[in-house]
This record gives sequence, C-alpha cells and structure tokens, in this order.
Amino acid sequence: MGQTARTTKLLLDLRARDQGGANSNKRRYLEETVTILDAARQFYLDFFLAHPEKLMERVEVVSKQTGEVREGLISSDKLLTWAEFQTVETREHPTPLASWNFSRQFPDFPNRYRRSVIKDVIGKARGYLTTLLKWQRSGKKQGKPGVPTASNHPTLYAGTFALELDALDLRKSFVRLKVYTGSEWVWVQYPTRYNRYFEQRRAEEGWEQESPKLVLGKQSAAIHFLQSKAIKARKIVESKRDPDLVTVAVDLNVKQLAVITVRQHGTIIQTRFVSDQGLDQARFRHLGRIAKKQWQSGQAVKGERSNQQLWRHIRRQNTDAAHKTARAIVEVCEQYPGCVLLFERLRTIKAAGGSKSRRRNRKQANQLKGKINQLAKEKAYAKGVVSVEVNPHGTSQYCSRCGAKGVRFTSQAGQRVTGKGGKLFFCPVCHYECHADFNASCNVHHSFFREFHWQPRTPKSG
Ligand SMILES: [Zn+2]
Repeated sequence: MGQTARTTKLLLDLRARDQGGANSNKRRYLEETVTILDAARQFYLDFFLAHPEKLMERVEVVSKQTGEVREGLISSDKLLTWAEFQTVETREHPTPLASWNFSRQFPDFPNRYRRSVIKDVIGKARGYLTTLLKWQRSGKKQGKPGVPTASNHPTLYAGTFALELDALDLRKSFVRLKVYTGSEWVWVQYPTRYNRYFEQRRAEEGWEQESPKLVLGKQSAAIHFLQSKAIKARKIVESKRDPDLVTVAVDLNVKQLAVITVRQHGTIIQTRFVSDQGLDQARFRHLGRIAKKQWQSGQAVKGERSNQQLWRHIRRQNTDAAHKTARAIVEVCEQYPGCVLLFERLRTIKAAGGSKSRRRNRKQANQLKGKINQLAKEKAYAKGVVSVEVNPHGTSQYCSRCGAKGVRFTSQAGQRVTGKGGKLFFCPVCHYECHADFNASCNVHHSFFREFHWQPRTPKSG
C-alpha cells in the first residue's frame, strides 16, 4: 500500500469589479492576512525556541492499538494545548506569561488561524532543534543549521474558509475567506475563476480532501486544494511472474516527445506517437531571439534577469507539453489494468557544440524529458500503475527483432542514406526497417525482460 497526493488550483478572480472580478481592496486584504499570519507564526516560533525543553519533552505514550505504554516525544496536540495555556488570555485563565501574551499582541485573532499557525511552527521548530543538536554533537565548524523562516502559505481550516459552489451555475461560485483588513477580521467573498477541471478533480472518487492552502503570487491568488489517496499496487517481482503481464514502454525524444508501445505475450499490441507539434523548432526560434537581444544589449546586468517574458513563455510551453505527454502515456496505461510502465533511465547529457541557442535548446529539451518522466510516473501511480526504469544501454542501436546491431538512415528519393541523425532504423541481418524511435521503444521491453545478449546481466532498475 502506498500513498499519493495531488494539488488542484482554484484561481481567485481579482480583476477590477467592472471586469467581473473583486475590487482592489480584496487583494490588499489577502496580503494583510498573509502578513499577520506570518507575524503570528514568528511569535510562536520564537516562543517554542525559547522553550526547547518543553518542545523536546519525553512523556509516557499509550499506544492506541495495543495499549502499551512507552516513552516518546510529547504529541503536537498536547504541545498546542500547553502553548495556548501559556500565551492566550481566557476568562478561566486571565494571566498568560507576561512576555508571551499573544492575546495582547494579536487582538481578536481567530482561534482556527492561531491553531493552524501553532501546528505549522511545532514541526519547523522541532526539525530545527533536531538538526542543531546533531550538528553540535558532530563538532563540525561549518554547516550550522539556519533558524527556520516563519513565512508560509496560510492553511485554511473549516472556520476560516468556505467554498460556496452554485449548484446551477458554477460560474457564480465563491470562496468565503476570513481575512484581515489591517484593523479587523472579517468574512469576505471572493469570486473564483471557474474551471470544469477543478470540479471534476474534487468530485473524483477515492481521493481524500486535505486542508487547502492560500497561495498568494505577485499577480495572482489561488487556493490550492490538497487531496491524498491510498494506492494498491502489485510489486514488480510479482508482476514479472504474471504470464499475461502487459508492459507499456516509453521512449522519450525531442521531436517525437514520446513513443509508447504496449506489449503482451511477446507482441506489440498498441503503439502511440506523441509529437511535439513543432515545439522544438518554436523554442529554438525563441532562444535565437533571446541570444540576439542579449548580444544587442551587451553584457548582462548582474542580478537583473533579461528577456523575462520570453523565458516565461518557453517555460510555460515546456510545462504544458510535459503535462499533455504524461497524460497521453497514462491514458494508454489506463486501458490495461495491472500493467507496468517502463522508462529508460535518463542519461545526463551535456549539450555541446553548435550555437549558443542550439545548446540552450538541447538543454531545454533534456529538461522536458525529465519533466515528462516525472509527471508520467506520478500520474500513473495515482492510477495504481507502477513504473520501472530500465537500463538504456543499446536501446537505440540494436534491432528490436533479432538483436543485431543496426544503422540509422534517412530515405532520400527512395535511396537509403545512412547517417547518425537518421530518423529511420535498418537492420543489416534481418533487413528490418522501421522508425528509429519505435525501435528504441520496443527495445525498452527487451531491456525490462533482459532478452538480448547485448543487455547487461545485472539489473539496475529501480
Ligand atoms: Zn534485425
């Protein structure tokens, strides 16, 4: 049994009111809220670090399952109660510690926010103290752990947040948030940027809802909804014993982003090519423009990022392509329940030769491969599909039919022109001809089952 988590973003609509969004104060309230929560977190971080003996107190813990009593670290619930008793004024307890009076410093601070802040800080402070202690014991001079920062995205618990979805028209949905105006705490409604995708993900079965977070960017504001799911998946060793096992192999490339082949009982039963739709060329052009602009403006100013918009555009296009390709891979996996997803272990290739923009483009393409690999694994695992990385040795050089060493070629006017950059593959032994990336994808299956002589005997798959 494993666990997987995912986040779905819901954007708040902070455009001017005449454009259908919230008014300008609403944005400011969010900023004020983040600021005051950070300040409150700093208060409790200082408080706990001033009481390390309590934070690391060992107490007797009774196991809920076995009833066994053993010594353990004080629970965060107990610490929370203790911290509140020391710092918060109540009618029954009107005198908290004089120098740590939270109620005076933060009047009318909502209880829910206070508790979420304290819980945040307990983990941070404990982690810091543990690494600090380790460092002190090691006797090293360098590498002293830094004091953790108090800033964080606010966690929204029930009582500070409510999602109001209009059952009839989801476009009129609101998020109600308890926010700080700079002088008081009020409930404010924020219109959301509706998206159907969000609805679909929230309602999807098997996913557990966790407390959402408010994430305030420079230009945008969003609520990140966290979900988690328990995953049941077979172990790879068990899968490998299954004679009906379906393997889905992926070969990642530059122009054909992914070539997906599905194999069962030794034959390829499905193939899917995911093209980059001209992304590589477009990116090359963009990078050329960046290089030109950098040359024209002379030496780059230190600390100042140039061509920000273009870079952002390139990044977005890459992320988008990565998600789409990963999605396509998982779509294929979903057709074969219990299948195993195979990737080649990615090689770290340093881009060399060619112009600056060409090198940069190769680097970007490599990063894209890594991104697709990572996203596809995550998305597949959420569907209960386990991935394996196989040894990439020889997958593009050898024939996937007979295992002999082959050549790359291009077809020009009906003639075979052999060359390294060729998109086609030819085997001189069995005369097999096919798309080179397809051949490589088929070889990934062979590599998983270690079927050919050129594959190393000792597996390094993970
Ligand atoms: Zn062959």
